[in-house]
Amino acid sequence: MDRIICNECGKKYSGYYIVRVRFDELGEYENLCHECSNKRMADLLGINLINLRKDSLTMEDIDGKEHFFKIRRQLFPQGIILEALEIKEDVPEGYSIAVDDELDCNQYDLEIKLYQKVQNELYTKYIESKEMFGEEFLSIKDDKVIGRIDYDETSEGETPLVVIGGKEYTWNQLGKMLTSYEGWQFKLEMFDFTEDVE
Ligand SMILES: [Zn+2]
Repeated sequence: MDRIICNECGKKYSGYYIVRVRFDELGEYENLCHECSNKRMADLLGINLINLRKDSLTMEDIDGKEHFFKIRRQLFPQGIILEALEIKEDVPEGYSIAVDDELDCNQYDLEIKLYQKVQNELYTKYIESKEMFGEEFLSIKDDKVIGRIDYDETSEGETPLVVIGGKEYTWNQLGKMLTSYEGWQFKLEMFDFTEDVE
């Protein structure tokens, strides 16, 4: 995977860690890594950014499988977003977990909140996979599922890809899981990725 050089610190980063920005309306766009961009934004906004305890972390899920996350911080005039992005082969894939708060929040608490949210999500299982007659059968564990809606290249965006528990499922696979609920009702609710999962 091609890496992009940050105009400020000169280090090379994967695409997900680079933003193309300009801070001056008449200035030119440049490639900055997230942390260099955050530093400039912090100067403009007049706030101090803490040094994060980690820039990456590895955590096991409920099945003992390891997940590697990169921590990405994004600073906006409206607030701070901290994200844990699961990375596989240098590309974000799987879990994408985030928290946010206002600029004057306690940033140490926000960082801890992110790690707790990562742990909670890795320890919640929504989909069960069973093998029957040599075939994999997927089912919804406790009649409830929470996930993320993503772009499905294979359907060219006609139907979404859903990411549940860091795993990708096609719309069809989710539909199949729902067939065992024939006659039931359902509730479909959308919420922002920084909101708490309940
Ligand atoms: Zn940089």
